[in-house]
Amino acid sequence: MSKKYVYLFKEGNTTMKNLLGGKGANLSEMKNIGIPIPDGFVVTTEACNKYYDDGQKLTSEVVDEIQRTMDTLEKETGKNFGGDTNPLLVSVRSGARASMPGMMDTILNLGLNDKTVEVLAKESGSERFAYDSYRRFIMMFSDVVIELDKQKFEKILEEMKEEKNVELDTELTAEDLKDLVKKFKDFYREAKGEEFPQDAREQLIEAVTAVFRSWDNPRANVYRKLNDIPSRWGTAVNVQEMVFGNMGDTSGSGVAFSRNPATGEHKIYAEYLMNAQGEDVVAGIRTPRPIEELEAQMPEVYKEFMDIVAKLEAHYKDMQDMEFTFEDGKLYFLQTRNGKRTAQAALKIAVDMVEEGIVNKEKAILMMDPKQLDTLLHPTFDADDMGHHEVLVAGLPASPGAATGKLAFTAQEAKDRHEAGERVILVRQETSPEDIEGMIAAEGILTVRGGMTSHAAVVARGMGTCCVVGAGGIKVNEEKKTMTVNGKVYTTEDFISIDGSTGNVYDGEIESNEPEISGHFETFMGWADEFRTLKVRTNADTPHDAEQAVKFGAEGIGLTRTEHMFFAEDRIFPMRQMIVATTEEARRTALEKILPMQKADFKGIYKAMEGRAVTIRFLDPPLHEFLPTHQHEIKQLAEELKITEEHLNGVITDLHEFNPMMGHRGCRLAVSYPEIAEMQTRAVIEAAIEVNEENGWSIVPEIMIPLVGDVNELKYVKSIVVKVADQIIADRGAKLDYLVGTMIEIPRACVTADEIAKEAEFFSFGTNDLTQMAFGFSRDDAGPFLKHYYDKKVYDFDPFAKLDQEGVGQFVKMAVEKGRSVKPNLKLGVCGEHGGDPSSVEFFHNVGLDYVSCSPFRVPVARLAAAQAEVRNPRKK
Ligand code: ADP
Ligand code: MG
Ligand code: MG
Repeated sequence: MSKKYVYLFKEGNTTMKNLLGGKGANLSEMKNIGIPIPDGFVVTTEACNKYYDDGQKLTSEVVDEIQRTMDTLEKETGKNFGGDTNPLLVSVRSGARASMPGMMDTILNLGLNDKTVEVLAKESGSERFAYDSYRRFIMMFSDVVIELDKQKFEKILEEMKEEKNVELDTELTAEDLKDLVKKFKDFYREAKGEEFPQDAREQLIEAVTAVFRSWDNPRANVYRKLNDIPSRWGTAVNVQEMVFGNMGDTSGSGVAFSRNPATGEHKIYAEYLMNAQGEDVVAGIRTPRPIEELEAQMPEVYKEFMDIVAKLEAHYKDMQDMEFTFEDGKLYFLQTRNGKRTAQAALKIAVDMVEEGIVNKEKAILMMDPKQLDTLLHPTFDADDMGHHEVLVAGLPASPGAATGKLAFTAQEAKDRHEAGERVILVRQETSPEDIEGMIAAEGILTVRGGMTSHAAVVARGMGTCCVVGAGGIKVNEEKKTMTVNGKVYTTEDFISIDGSTGNVYDGEIESNEPEISGHFETFMGWADEFRTLKVRTNADTPHDAEQAVKFGAEGIGLTRTEHMFFAEDRIFPMRQMIVATTEEARRTALEKILPMQKADFKGIYKAMEGRAVTIRFLDPPLHEFLPTHQHEIKQLAEELKITEEHLNGVITDLHEFNPMMGHRGCRLAVSYPEIAEMQTRAVIEAAIEVNEENGWSIVPEIMIPLVGDVNELKYVKSIVVKVADQIIADRGAKLDYLVGTMIEIPRACVTADEIAKEAEFFSFGTNDLTQMAFGFSRDDAGPFLKHYYDKKVYDFDPFAKLDQEGVGQFVKMAVEKGRSVKPNLKLGVCGEHGGDPSSVEFFHNVGLDYVSCSPFRVPVARLAAAQAEVRNPRKK
């Protein structure tokens, strides 16, 4: 039998998301559990992939199957698609595996043409309604299928409203709308050079094709990259009988959450509009009403609505985000999915649902997206400073956080100014999917119109960006780039501050405070820690970073980069003296000056870690990084160093490398200049002895030798470390354990890890270098050309941000296996950027590492990711 590309809703269920997309799978599920939904079918994501494989064409095989299924739908609904009586109208809706709100296209009222519109008018008894539906259809179809600019249609509509002297779409009469339809069709003919298609079956195929094509539109691509959604997932297309919320005063549409998506409060949160199609609620054209008002207006619909919402949440055991429409008093649900929510809300919901007995702790842990924790680690406004700033206006608190910046009035401007290093607040009438890049770039988003479920609100919550919507007291002039509020005019040079937790908009720049872990956050993280087996350390070069990381739950330091310490004002000079020295003698003299400072650094870090493990990496970067590049600086430095300019230029020339990333760095420096490793050993060991004595601790410092590719490199450097360390310990009559290990960041080290393990007491994977060495491109230079790779879908993601599991990950796996084959208890960790990336953390868990190490602000993210990995793939015995 040939492959099946089309499924009726009744043939699907919620487990079939990969094939049917989220929307299709959940519509199927709702149908199966008896929720009233309009019937329909799904064209699968496999059909989408096939469309692309076949050179962006729907083959006759797929087309025939769609048409046959449409025959079945006609039978089941008892209506005629494109027919003269009882016409069947459908929506054609995109729906990927993971929800991508507003990123792809949907067409409503498909099946309308000059004849069916008349039948619809007669059968519904409302000409106004029929033509309102038709004009919407023409606009959406033109926008999606032939990419005619929606704005042009909007303009025709605006002109008509002006001409008729009305403010709202709903005030236009049937005659007006008839006229509007004619104008729309004329415009279509002019633009396309042919009549608006009248054949429903042809409309359908064109629409399905267009939705598949919209999978690849630029804004969908940006969104996918931001959310790690592979392009190969494809989208499904849902074809569903239309129900009409715009059929008059007993009809309406709305959006609902089973709990409050901003705060997590256990109370249904919904908004609706009477006499409107679903689009209107989200678009923020009219401000929707709270659902509570429906109780008085239509008590029966209200009750049924509340019951279904409760039923859906109980069925899915998670907060649901739903769309509904009632047509002449009959209620339908059109979509349900696990709702996007703010991080605060997510924590509250997870904790509440455990307490309510709806889910267990394991399930609760899986409910929270680790990346989202990031947003809780953002600052809040300083209460004192906030008191000194005037509240200009209050909008709706759509997405929490505190943001300060200068005003930007377009997405492009926000993006450009962000790239130029400015902090901006994007201020818009309302946002649309085209604004996505500007929304990413902005510190915060402020809109004049729209409700809690508007585009700006939904997208900002998803990104964790602070957002205030519906601040009606503001007037925005996008052309003049001004915002007027309370009679005062603000320009692109003025600062404002917005509080996404209260909705307040303030004049000026407000100071903010560091975040902390408390309340539900603390409870939830406690559960994560109960489960996880992978430890989480931090990368910290200063006591301040170390303290912050401990507050966020770091269990040790996985990487202290010593070179950062050499750039400080007071040490760069002796460092430079050391570099220009021509004899070992002179080098040692310079290093003597650095020693006390380096030792003080380490003491500070040990103290901040209060006895927890600390891994210190020896000097890693090529030495030229410590020397100036401008001739006038070189001249001045030569004077300070009391050497000739020629000499210094000579040193710089000698240090010049064509490929510094593969140059004289890492352990190679210690091989050339063992005195550097000696000094660093001294600092590490003396500091540890002293801090242990002062505090009664027993810190075991871990000395990490970078960039080892051959066991002999490690052997050589280790011999220096051990000699110096043991001498100091003996001289002082102290007791101190210490470890000497290595970074594994060169492919050769992975391949020979069994040899290296004989000498190393631990491995720490430096996955940044390992990635660049494995791929053979430099992370400092790869950015610009990797962009072409993403655009052309050669790569889906940045291998420096997310571990390349099939390639680089296999090196890690090999090294783990080889290392442990020699030393079963070899301590294994990772200290690259990947240590804070959830999918990479899961990989590290699965290959059996002991810990990951990441920047302080990612520590909670890694803790949760590690707990989720354990729940999914337990390694607790
Ligand atoms: P999105 O993914 O952008 O939300 P949808 O496919 O959900 O797009 O549809 C857009 C709007 O149209 C929603 O408000 C939805 O409820 C409404 N809609 C979709 N299909 C139908 C239908 N068959 N009848 C009535 N309204 C519909
Ligand atoms: Mg939707
Ligand atoms: Mg490295």
